[in-house]
Amino acid sequence: MMKPLLEVRDIHRTYQIGESTVDALRGVSLTIERGEFVAIMGASGSGKSSLLHILGLLDNPDQGEFMIMGNNVNTLTEDEQAGLRNNVAGFVFQQFHLLKRMTIVDNVRLPHIYSGLKGDFRKEATERLKLVGLEQRMDHTPNQLSGGEQQRVAIARALIRDPLIIFADEPTGNLDSKNSAEIMKILKGLHDEGKTIIMVTHENEIAAYAGRVIIMRDGVIVSDERRAGMQPSVAAAAGEVGIESTLSRKGSLWQDGRYTGFMAQAFQSILANKMRSFLSVLGIFVGVASVIAMMALGEGAKAAMQEQLKSMGSNMLSIRGGSAKIHGAAQGAGAVTRFTFIDVDDIASLRTLVKNSTGVVNGNGRIVYGNKNWSSQLTGVGFDYGTMRAAIPTVGRWFTREEIQTREKSAIIGVTVVKELFGGSNPLGKTIKINRINFKVIGIAPAKGFSGPQDEDDVVIIPVTTAMYRVLGKDYLSGIFVEVASPALIEQAKIAISELIQKRHRLKADDDSFNIRDMTEIQKMLSSTTQTMSLLLGSIAAISLLVGGIGIMNIMLVSVTERTREIGLRKAIGARKSDIMLQFLIESVGMTISGGFIGILAGIGISLILATFAGWAVKTSLSSVLLATTFSALIGIFFGLWPARKAASLKPVEALRFE
Ligand code: ADP
Ligand code: MG
Repeated sequence: MMKPLLEVRDIHRTYQIGESTVDALRGVSLTIERGEFVAIMGASGSGKSSLLHILGLLDNPDQGEFMIMGNNVNTLTEDEQAGLRNNVAGFVFQQFHLLKRMTIVDNVRLPHIYSGLKGDFRKEATERLKLVGLEQRMDHTPNQLSGGEQQRVAIARALIRDPLIIFADEPTGNLDSKNSAEIMKILKGLHDEGKTIIMVTHENEIAAYAGRVIIMRDGVIVSDERRAGMQPSVAAAAGEVGIESTLSRKGSLWQDGRYTGFMAQAFQSILANKMRSFLSVLGIFVGVASVIAMMALGEGAKAAMQEQLKSMGSNMLSIRGGSAKIHGAAQGAGAVTRFTFIDVDDIASLRTLVKNSTGVVNGNGRIVYGNKNWSSQLTGVGFDYGTMRAAIPTVGRWFTREEIQTREKSAIIGVTVVKELFGGSNPLGKTIKINRINFKVIGIAPAKGFSGPQDEDDVVIIPVTTAMYRVLGKDYLSGIFVEVASPALIEQAKIAISELIQKRHRLKADDDSFNIRDMTEIQKMLSSTTQTMSLLLGSIAAISLLVGGIGIMNIMLVSVTERTREIGLRKAIGARKSDIMLQFLIESVGMTISGGFIGILAGIGISLILATFAGWAVKTSLSSVLLATTFSALIGIFFGLWPARKAASLKPVEALRFE
């Protein structure tokens, strides 16, 4: 014997409103066979809708048994129930519940997005619309239709998945008698074709279409009569479907068309609220743009700083006589190692560690040109000093090796000296006096600006031999500059050079009559400063992104509340929890990503403007763009998740009756 289509035994449903409870169903038992046309009648509040919702799996009883084709429904999961609603049931509600943003044809084929089947189902939707006589209005929106027409669209939607059962809750409740008659004619026709119809109504004329009338009062059935001459339709027996096959959805999320369907719908919904979407995207836009611009500024500052450091000479060691504590002013303060050219050559012979070494001698120079005189730092240098210290003139030339060997009286002067002695005129080829000795100016040293309080351009550079033997009267060097082969070898080179000097000058291991300093110390300090600055700028920008994200969350929450009934409808036609979550997530991620995208463009634009008009050093990096993109997507997910969860966890009935 065939199991009955639907069977409920002693079901109860109690609603809780604050402190008080309402017993809507108080022990209802009922069996419905295939092909029946059942009208459930009774006074308002008697529990008709409550019963219909349970039969349609939109709600679950608190107590009692419910079997569909002999299968216990109580043990089904939420998603399995959603699958059943999609495959077996079609719903028609008093309020139609059409989605206003969508066209008629999209409304009708909407259940298919949750069916897991491939295809656009436009043809099927058109056929169902033809059945209810609305194929001409396919591309209209629900607002352009009368109530009766809207209900016909709802019936077409209920039919799209070829359901076994149609559940109708007061389908004519909002319609005049002419439209009511039309709707009932359609339902009658469907019954004749073999559909099982369960309908709630309180009007006798409407109930007259049914073959069986159940009357309820105060949550129980008081009468259940089959009308003579009205038989279950014979075609119904053909409608036997195994319940198992309807429980699970076919195809995975990414294979079928559902994903693209969700994308299209999310897009539609964003566009439907243009102003609101724009305003919430604005927060992300500003956030991302500032992240990009700030990071470009930070990176630019870092790059500029590094450029400057490079001009100071990287990989450089400076060896001086005297203790480290009194570097540069060592004379007379304790023992001082006096370096010679032999030290320079010995250090240079540490080939694996040292690329170059050059001796320098420092002193004060009294410079005279015509009637002007000026005091300046005098530096005697070797040939390699020019490349090692980036001192090769761009105006004029560097010393030749012969000039240095033959103690030539040639001088290269810094721009400060040029300004003080020559004003606007060209100093090249002119003769100046340094400590009363005539020198020829052969070049202008590249401008370096200030390093702390020291003017690096107030210098006069002459050959080291000339300085020692002709100008300063010294037979030793003030210091040695060493260029280490690579930055990684700096520590090793320092140790090797120390040992070499100690050995050559017969010094004790803890002797502090000389010291070695490296430029990386300064470099480290400066780059950590720029690092801090970048971090600070970046975090300010990140905060604005966060604020933007909160804006998105706010809008999504409003949107969820506003669309609660839409969510209810979607669940009724078979959307699973994950489908609803995905829909809202795609929507919020879509908003943040598009905000992020224009933000990236704006950020790059702002950087360019700062670079061109304010002359700031900026450097837009790919990493900042990637960071901003990832961050805005994550913000979309993170801040969309809560509203999405909220939307997804609603019960279909609760959502549907939300005002
Ligand atoms: P009918 O459809 O016959 O008018 P319902 O099944 O909608 O009746 O409601 C039966 C009773 O349960 C009514 O008293 C109604 O107020 C109450 N009720 C229905 N749904 C809810 C709900 N979600 N929360 C609280 N009370 C409810
Ligand atoms: Mg009702």
